[in-house]
Amino acid sequence: MIPKAALEFEKRIGKFIPLKENWTPIDKALFTQNIYFKNYQSTAELTFDAIKYSFNHHYENNTLYRRLCGVNKITPDAIKSKEDFNKIPLVPDSFFKDYPEGKGFLNWLDNVYTGSTPMPTFRTETPDHDNVIEEFNKKGVSIMFTSGTSGRFSFIPRDTGSWNRLKYNAMRSVVELMDYNPNDTVILLIPDPRLTNLTIASLFGIAYDLYDPENIHVALEDTKITTSFLRMQRNEAIGIKEKLKAKAMSKLSPMVQKRSDAKIINLLENLEKEGRRANIAGPPFWLNRILEKMIKEGRKVKLPDSQVLTGGGWKAEEDKRAPEEIFREKVENILGITQDRYHDVYAMSECSSIFLSCEGHYKHVPPTVIPIVLNEELNPIGYNEFGRFAFIDPIPESYPGFIITGDRVKLLRKCPVCSREGPVLDVEVSRLPGVEGRGCAAVMAELMQEE
Ligand SMILES: [Zn+2]
Repeated sequence: MIPKAALEFEKRIGKFIPLKENWTPIDKALFTQNIYFKNYQSTAELTFDAIKYSFNHHYENNTLYRRLCGVNKITPDAIKSKEDFNKIPLVPDSFFKDYPEGKGFLNWLDNVYTGSTPMPTFRTETPDHDNVIEEFNKKGVSIMFTSGTSGRFSFIPRDTGSWNRLKYNAMRSVVELMDYNPNDTVILLIPDPRLTNLTIASLFGIAYDLYDPENIHVALEDTKITTSFLRMQRNEAIGIKEKLKAKAMSKLSPMVQKRSDAKIINLLENLEKEGRRANIAGPPFWLNRILEKMIKEGRKVKLPDSQVLTGGGWKAEEDKRAPEEIFREKVENILGITQDRYHDVYAMSECSSIFLSCEGHYKHVPPTVIPIVLNEELNPIGYNEFGRFAFIDPIPESYPGFIITGDRVKLLRKCPVCSREGPVLDVEVSRLPGVEGRGCAAVMAELMQEE
């Protein structure tokens, strides 16, 4: 990064750092070092203190989590050193979609929330999910949602402080693993992040903190993706009013999609003409659709200084996915962006860290989270073996971030390609067999109607 860009970045990221006198051990871990991957060990040491603090906080203030600790016979006294971290009871990610419909939903959310929930007043006892999300937003609690192939949503509540920490943490990974310039043009292949709490949009929406909003182009500008919108896509509308609305919107019209794709291709060609660079970010299936269209029409651009960032996983049909390497070649061939400038990110609503790949395509684990790989009996297996991904994330204060996912990963002690410190995840992350497919890309893919 050029010094000017570094200065600009520190200015942008500064607003997420609270006053030092108010720092908890979590803030200390996050904000002490300003280069994570060069100071991996020292930051990881601070993260250990943060974990002890965070475990105690959720144990004391979250009845559900305390009950889980009770079943496992673990109290905060048992967690003294990092060797004890494998005793911390982990919550399966399915926990966040295990809510009752109707009257019980608010109560469930209240139970998930650590500490006293800033509960809004609702006009009815059974507000719909969008209404809940909207009212909590006003109270400074952002509820990110994502959906699995079954159509069930996961809801993750974050207070402002926890959300700011996530942003800060993610921005550090972007700046240290990609070629950052605050003046870059950005193309987001997602619905407008300012209109939705859908996880993929919220996370890619961090672009608004990294770059100038006037340089950011969003592929789907006027589409508001809400839980009821998604539910209607799946024909799960309940009332007559909803059914009528569902009929009117059905899927995203192919016209809207076509117009959006044409706009993006046009933009890419203009960037080439003007010799400007861009960061193109979104789920791979979306970029793939645009590349396919360009191939069909015999179009190509050369954007050697630009970068690509894919994320959100591939389509629900795992068997149809192009291995990343083949896709990278396609990007290089059609957009003229070399493979070392192609990055992929593994991220999820439940985790405050993002796992972003370096120029060598391994996904770097920041020192602010402890990654764990588990075997079928849910025992840790360490490095170099495929297993189920779990993590200890001390950052959120509004829900316990000690979580088992349904994703299959392999952890390596260090990156085989670059010299950044700390462990990495092997290139391919997939869904474990028998676990419900999920992820925002799958949801988005369903929105796009095949012609
Ligand atoms: Zn690397």
